[in-house]
Parts: sequence; structure tokens; C-alpha cells
Amino acid sequence: MKIKENFDLTGHNTFGIKVSSKYAAIIKNEDHLRAVIDTEIFKQSSRIILGGGSNVLFTKDFEGLTLMNEIKGVQVKEESENHVIVQVGAGENWHEFVLHAIQNGWGGIENLSLIPGSVGASPMQNIGAYGVEIKDVFYELEAMDLATGEIKYFDNQACAFGYRESVFKKALKDQYFITRVTYKLTKQNHKLNTSYGAIEQELAKNGVVANIENISKAVIAIRQSKLPDPAKIGNAGSFFKNPVVQTSQFEVLQKSFPNIVHYPVEGGEKLAAGWLIDQLGWKGKTFKNYGVHKNQALVLVNYGGAEGKQLFDLSGKIIDEVKKTYNVELEREVNIY
Ligand code: FAD
Ligand code: NAP
Repeated sequence: MKIKENFDLTGHNTFGIKVSSKYAAIIKNEDHLRAVIDTEIFKQSSRIILGGGSNVLFTKDFEGLTLMNEIKGVQVKEESENHVIVQVGAGENWHEFVLHAIQNGWGGIENLSLIPGSVGASPMQNIGAYGVEIKDVFYELEAMDLATGEIKYFDNQACAFGYRESVFKKALKDQYFITRVTYKLTKQNHKLNTSYGAIEQELAKNGVVANIENISKAVIAIRQSKLPDPAKIGNAGSFFKNPVVQTSQFEVLQKSFPNIVHYPVEGGEKLAAGWLIDQLGWKGKTFKNYGVHKNQALVLVNYGGAEGKQLFDLSGKIIDEVKKTYNVELEREVNIY
């Protein structure tokens, strides 16, 4: 097993931050991973598991070992009249898998089209968009315990999925390498979700019916019109999570901010973090080569050559101002290294 030294991570994080990792190993299968675990370098280093790098912000060079996930393969495990159970290598590209599912007529993940990154990261923060989350189609995952090299299986409950959360982002962070993820998708009677306003408008604009293919196309078109393409402008999508506040706190807030954007959820009200930030005048603010995106206040951007620390400090200023104005604690969604 070859471990590379002084590995350039610039092309491996969608923020495009120029950083390097002291060591890096490309993992193509479970045997590779076990061989790495057995090395002295692994035993003596801290580590980062990296997929597409679309949900990370590097604030400095990494002095440890980066495990680059390239485990591939798509395998149908079980099939019935209504469902397919399909296992996917964690290093497969998420959006390519979505397109593969649609081509095969498998439903359930069309609303999650065009989310960058790997299959292996999809359970990490229970990726979600347009009213659908990975937990809705999740069957199980395989992950290697990096302390022992053993493969363990996690079902939906063991993953402890929450809003942009899972056990792998909190209690088990960096302890397990997710190697394969299995999803249960529909073959007929698809449960279509067009409840997010923009999807229905897009379908109507195109004069097409709601089906998995058209929903995917609508989501792709909406995303392309609103979100910065990381290939052109460095970013990691939403930098902050939408905060959930208790109903009593929400009622107080609504008195001061009658137009506040909110959605009822279990345990209170979800506030649109983008709205909170936008109201404070951050949208489009630019500091030389980085700033807040002009169309979406949740997205921090690197126009080229910014340092991770500058973006991290900017996020801190936004968090402080949101706290001061609304008494709401914004949490970073992006993983900081
Ligand atoms: P990485 O950035 O490589 O890793 C993210 C975290 O997961 C890191 O902590 C890493 O250590 C860990 N990790 C990665 N792979 C593994 C593994 N195999 N085993 C264990 N840990 C692992 N997210 C959404 O939820 N919804 C969206 O709609 C959405 N839209 C986005 C739009 C844009 C333009 C961008 C840039 C990002 C968006 N994101 C969105 C965020 C991001 O794409 C997702 O979180 C994605 O799942 C990250 O995948 P990745 O492979 O790039 O993960
Ligand atoms: P949007 O449609 O302008 O909506 C703004 C916010 O309001 C979103 O954050 C969304 O919450 C919430 N929202 C809208 N309609 C809702 C409904 N019917 N029920 C409950 N909540 C609703 O958002 P956008 O920025 O264009 O993003 C569209 C979707 O893509 C969202 O689901 C968003 O999460 C996802 N996205 C995620 C990332 C990321 O990096 N995490 C980046 C880009 C887009 P939710 O965020 O909870 O859905």
C-alpha cells in the first residue's frame, strides 16, 4: 500500500482552498483500507476521510493522513415487483448514482439530484433537499471500524439520523470509514414529492407531468439557476444549518420580525438561516477574493486564492451578528478542519 507524502488537496475540496496533507492514501477497496490501518503512519497520525470535499473547509495544512475514498460499484441485492435494494460503493459520485437510478426507473432520490459529493458521505449529514432526506430511502450501510479493521453494519436507527445530522457526524466522527451504502428505492407507485414550491412551478413552466425524470430535471434546472457551480466559484453549499427554535421563542421573534421565514417542524419552528443572514445585509458582501454569494446568503464563496481561515472568520462574524440580532445560535453545517 503506497502512502503519498505532501499531497495537494486544492483539487479535492470544492472551496478550492490551497492546502496539503502530510500523508494521503487512495482507498479502492476494503483490503486497501485494512492495509493502510496496519501501517505505522496510520497508527501515528490523525486522519481525515475525504469523499468529494464538498462539505469541508480546510483552515490549515493537515498534518495527518487523508484517506481518499475511491470504492466503486453498484450492485442490486434484492428486487421485488415494487422495490429494489441496491448497494453502492461509497466512492461513487452521488449525482451519477441518482441519474443511474432514474435511468432504471428507480424512485426516491430524484429530489436529491445534483448534490455534489460521494455516496459515502450521503448518510454523514443525512443529505437533504426539496423535502427529501437520505433517511427516507436508506436501508443499511457498511463501515470499517478504523480501530480494528472490522466491518460493521448500521441500519436506519443505528445511524441516528437527524436534520443534516447522523451518528457519524457527532459521536462516531472519524472512527468509521463508510465503505458501502444500501438504499431501498421504488420501482412503481413512486412517492413523488413536489411540495417545494419551485418544483411545481418548474414542471408547470415546462408543461410536463410529475414523474421521477421530470422532477430530477426540474431540480437540476432550479439548482443551476440559483447555486454557484463549485467548478467555477469555490463553495461548499450551505455553510450554516437552518436553526430550529422552540415555539415560545419563535413567537417572541415573530413580534419583532413579522416577515420571518419559518416552517413548523417537530419540536418547534425551523427558521430559514438564509433569510436571517440576508436581512442583516450580508448577501453579496465581498471582501477582495471571498464573501457571501449574491443569490444565496447561506453560501460562502471563494472567488480565488482565499484562505480557509478567512472564510471561517467570516462565518464567525455572521454567527455573532445573528446571535446579537435574533438571539438565535447558527450552527456551521460544513465540517471544519
Ligand atoms: P466530503 O466533503 O468529502 O466529506 C464531508 C464529511 O463527511 C467529512 O467530515 C468527511 O470526513 C466525512 N466523510 C466523507 N466520506 C466519508 C466516508 N466514506 N466515511 C466516513 N466519513 C466520511 N448537502 C445537502 O445535504 N443538501 C444539498 O442540497 C446540498 N447541496 C450542495 C450544493 C453545493 C453547490 C455544494 C458545494 C454542496 C452541497 N451540499 C449539500 C453539501 C455536500 O454536497 C454534501 O454534504 C455531500 O454529501 C458531501 O459529500 P462529499 O463526498 O463531498 O463529502
Ligand atoms: P429555498 O427553496 O429558497 O428555501 C429556503 C429555505 O426554506 C430552505 O433552507 C428550506 O429548508 C426551507 N423550505 C422551503 N420550502 C420549504 C417547505 N415547503 N417545507 C419546509 N422547509 C422549506 O432553498 P434553496 O436554498 O433554494 O435550497 C433548495 C433545497 O436544496 C433546500 O432543501 C436546501 O436544503 C437544499 N440545499 C442544500 C444545500 C446544502 O449545502 N445543504 C445547498 C443548496 C441547497 P431545508 O433546507 O430544510 O430544505
